[in-house]
Amino acid sequence: MGPALLWAERGTAPLDVLADFPAIPDGWAYLDTAATAQKPQVVIDAIARGYAETYATVHRGVYQRSADMTLAYEAARARIARFLGAASADEIVYVRGATEAINLVANSWGRTLKPGDRILLSQLEHHANIVPWQLLADRTGAVIDVAPLTADGHIDLDAVEAMLTPQHKLVALAHVSNVLGSVLNARRAADLAHAVGAKILIDGCQSVARVAVDVQALDCDFYVFSGHKLYGPTGIGVLWARADILGEMPPWQGGGAMIDTVSFSGTTYAPPPGRFEAGTPHIVGALGLHAAIDYVDAIGLDAIHAHETALVTAARDRLSTLNSITLFGPGDAAGIVSFDVRGVHPHDVGTILDEERVAIRAGHHCCQPLMAHLGVSATARASFGVYNGLADVDALVRGLERVTRIFG
Ligand code: PMP
Repeated sequence: MGPALLWAERGTAPLDVLADFPAIPDGWAYLDTAATAQKPQVVIDAIARGYAETYATVHRGVYQRSADMTLAYEAARARIARFLGAASADEIVYVRGATEAINLVANSWGRTLKPGDRILLSQLEHHANIVPWQLLADRTGAVIDVAPLTADGHIDLDAVEAMLTPQHKLVALAHVSNVLGSVLNARRAADLAHAVGAKILIDGCQSVARVAVDVQALDCDFYVFSGHKLYGPTGIGVLWARADILGEMPPWQGGGAMIDTVSFSGTTYAPPPGRFEAGTPHIVGALGLHAAIDYVDAIGLDAIHAHETALVTAARDRLSTLNSITLFGPGDAAGIVSFDVRGVHPHDVGTILDEERVAIRAGHHCCQPLMAHLGVSATARASFGVYNGLADVDALVRGLERVTRIFG
């Protein structure tokens, strides 16, 4: 397929925003956005302004600067709510990232699980969506079930339907796989979970920057993501949960800011989201995330999705002509392509590509159960962002041709 057709088929034009990203020098193919996205200048500026011009604490100050910063910090929360289609800003809990969000749900909501209750995960989950549930299962006697994948690397929802029972209290699934790029039909997954009375948590780490999300339309109960994958700063992320669910959840970390009143005869807690936000938060991180969401929304997630899907199509088409390469995952993957070069360890692939100024990720990608399923210990992974173009695909292919020449 000709390059122009790749986008025309999807009704959009290729994005041309590389100049917005000062940390991507000319000729460097950054193909590791699934690990963390590069930052546009507007995000860097928002962070710099937050520290250099408007900095103060939030929620406690009686002086004007602190009141203004509190307004900005809460405006970011409202912006996140609007971005996710949440019913209210009170449904947005600031956390350090997706990992902390899932641990929060496991430690707070999960506290009521009993021996014999079941949690359903899938074979492709990130360790962040496995280990917190294993820790919870150890504490409560709950049991974990693992849904299989289809041959092309989607979570097999027919199997999920057959596996779910009234004992299942939670289904926790990745919206987009960080290894295969496969996109979950999250609405169908939510319907299946709810049909047996279970709640559903969607790990949105890879979807939040690649697929338009409306948590109410998806009808999920929890949605989590990390700001740094959405072109925002590290150290800030989001737990969204429906207000009625958050309202029933006990605090999980104690400290300042999460209380109503404290005394040695008994302490009462703030309503959500404050109840889950003990301690001084990542104030400027929220401002950076606000700027990142404005940036992404201005481009539009449908355009981003079309752009990255076109790049995946181009990459898969080109890589499949190299006969030493095995591609993993489905053809319609969102922004992510994992592959194996026959007889070459993915780390060697990554090192040689780096010499060619192509940055990919090599390893198990925090998905060891998925690696076991694929029958490999690691994969090479190229993942795209808004700043990538066909030149990056060309550089990847040229680099891989060199890898195959070196290794014969
Ligand atoms: N889930 C998925 C699907 C991910 O890709 C990642 C990050 N690689 C995480 C969870 C964990 O995110 P973080 O390390 O930012 O908490």
